[in-house]
Amino acid sequence: MKLKNYIGGQWQDPENGQYIQDIDPGNGELIAEVPASSTRDAERAIEAARQAYDSWRKVPAPKRGEILYTVGQILKERKHELAQKMTREMGKVYTEAAGDVQEGIDMAFYMAGEGRRSFGYTTPSELPDKFAMATRDSVGVAGIITPWNFPMAIPTWKIFPALVCGNTVVFKPASETPWLAHELVSILDQAGVPAGVVNLVFGSGSVVGETLISDPRVNLISFTGSNETGRHVAKVAGEGLKRVSLELGGKNAIIVLDDADLDLAVDGILWSAFGTTGQRCTACSRLIVQKGIYQRLEQRLAERIGQLRLGHGLDAQTDVGPLINAGAVDKVHHYVTIGQQEGARLVVGGHPANDGAYAKGHYYAPTLFADVAPTMRIATEEIFGPVLSMIAVDDLDEAVGVNNRVTYGLSSSIFTQDVNRAFRAIRDLATGIVYINAGTIGAEIHLPFGGTRGTGNGHREAGTAALDFFSEWKAVYVDYSGRLQRAQIDA
Ligand code: NAD
Repeated sequence: MKLKNYIGGQWQDPENGQYIQDIDPGNGELIAEVPASSTRDAERAIEAARQAYDSWRKVPAPKRGEILYTVGQILKERKHELAQKMTREMGKVYTEAAGDVQEGIDMAFYMAGEGRRSFGYTTPSELPDKFAMATRDSVGVAGIITPWNFPMAIPTWKIFPALVCGNTVVFKPASETPWLAHELVSILDQAGVPAGVVNLVFGSGSVVGETLISDPRVNLISFTGSNETGRHVAKVAGEGLKRVSLELGGKNAIIVLDDADLDLAVDGILWSAFGTTGQRCTACSRLIVQKGIYQRLEQRLAERIGQLRLGHGLDAQTDVGPLINAGAVDKVHHYVTIGQQEGARLVVGGHPANDGAYAKGHYYAPTLFADVAPTMRIATEEIFGPVLSMIAVDDLDEAVGVNNRVTYGLSSSIFTQDVNRAFRAIRDLATGIVYINAGTIGAEIHLPFGGTRGTGNGHREAGTAALDFFSEWKAVYVDYSGRLQRAQIDA
C-alpha cells in the first residue's frame, strides 16, 4: 500500500517521488509506503488551506458541527477496524487502541455540539444606548503537528475544535503513524469537509514540520511532542508571532500513603505505568510511597509485574505491547543502565526481550526500580517506556515536595482514604491534572487537558479550553444613540 498526501481535496503523490516505510513495531511487517514530502508539498497544502479559509469561516458553526457529527458516526461504525489498524501500526494493545479511537468519537460529538454553543457573552456598556458583546472568531490556517503515541485521539483533539471554530487545517502526523492519519482524513473527506479545509502532508519534522512553523500564511500551531522539539517550535513560530500551543512531556507520579487501599493502588499503578508500554505523556514513572507501606507495595508490584505478558497487541493474551521502534528500546535500556549506575535497586525486568517470538519486534520487559532518590536521572527525566521508580517518603508534605520538584507538571495521583489529605493534595500538587484514588491516566475529553511548567506553555486542550485556543475573541460595540459617545470621557 502506498499512501498519498491530501491537498486541496485531491489525493496526491509527493512531488519528489520519495517514500519511507511504515512498519508494525510488534513483528516488523511492512504496513505502507509513506510520502517523504518536500517543502513544496507542504507549501501547496498551506496555500490550499489559505484559499479555503474565507468560505469555511463563513459556513455557520452549526453546519460545521453537523459535519463533525457525521465524522463521529463514521468513526463509531469503524471503531473496531481502526483500532486493529492502530495496534498494527503503533503497537498498543487492542483494547487501548479502541479507547484511543473512542476519544476521537467522543471529541467529534462534543465539538459537533459546540457548533451550536461556542458561547460568547454580552455585557452592559458604560454608555447609554450602546450594546456590547464578545464573540468567538476563527483564527485562520492551523498547523497541526502530532506525535505517534495517540494516533487518533491527539489529531482529533486538535483538528475537530480547529474546524468547528472556522479554521482550516494543514495536518502533519508523526512519521511512525501515517496510516491512522490517512484513515482519519479520509473520514473527514467522506463526511463532507469541503476541499482545502483539511490537508494532510506526510513527511519529516525537519522538512514538513519546519515549513508549517515558519510559513507566514500559517496563523496557529498546535503541537504535541517532546520538550526538545517543542522548544524549537516555540522559537520559530514565536518569531512569526503565531499563536502556539505546546503539549510536551511528563514525569508523572502516583503517591501512595500508608492508609491507601492497597489492592486498588496496585491496579492503578500497573495500568498507569505499563499501559501503552509506558508511552503515554501521562504515564506514571515515579511511585512516591510512604514508608509504612513501602515493603508490602514493592512485593505486590514485583509479583504482578512479573506476571505481565509481553506480546503483539492483537494477541488477546498480551498485557504489554512493543515499544515504537528500536531507538526507543535503546533509550529505555540506556536509562535502566543509568539507574543501576546511580545506585537504584533493580527489582524486576531491566532488559530488552528479543528472543523467540520477540525477535522481530521492539519489546522491553516491564521494569521496577526501588530505593530511588528523587534527584536521580531516572526520577527526573522522561523515559517514555515501561520503567517505574519507587521513592520512599515520610509523609504527605514530603510526597508533594518530591512530586513537584521535577520540571514537568502534567499529571499526578494520590491513593489515600483520608479526605483531608486528599484535599490537601488537590491544593498542593502542581500539575495540570490530579487524580484521587485512580492512576495518572484516564483523561476525559470534556475537561481541560494539559500541564504546568515544563509540560507546555500554559494552554489546555479539550473541553471548552480548546475553543479558547482555536478562536479569537472579537469585542463588538453597537452604538444606537445616533450621536458620538466617547468611552471613558462622556460616561
Ligand atoms: P517528537 O517531538 O519527536 O515529534 C512530535 C512531532 O513533531 C512529530 O510529528 C515530528 O515529526 C514533529 N517534528 C519534529 N521536528 C520538528 C520540527 N523541527 N519542526 C516541526 N515539527 C517537528 O515527539 P514524539 O516522539 O513523536 O512523541 C513523544 C513525546 O510526545 C513525548 O515527550 C510525550 O510525552 C509527548 N506527548 C505529550 C502529550 C501531551 O499532551 N502533553 C501527549 C502525547 C505525547
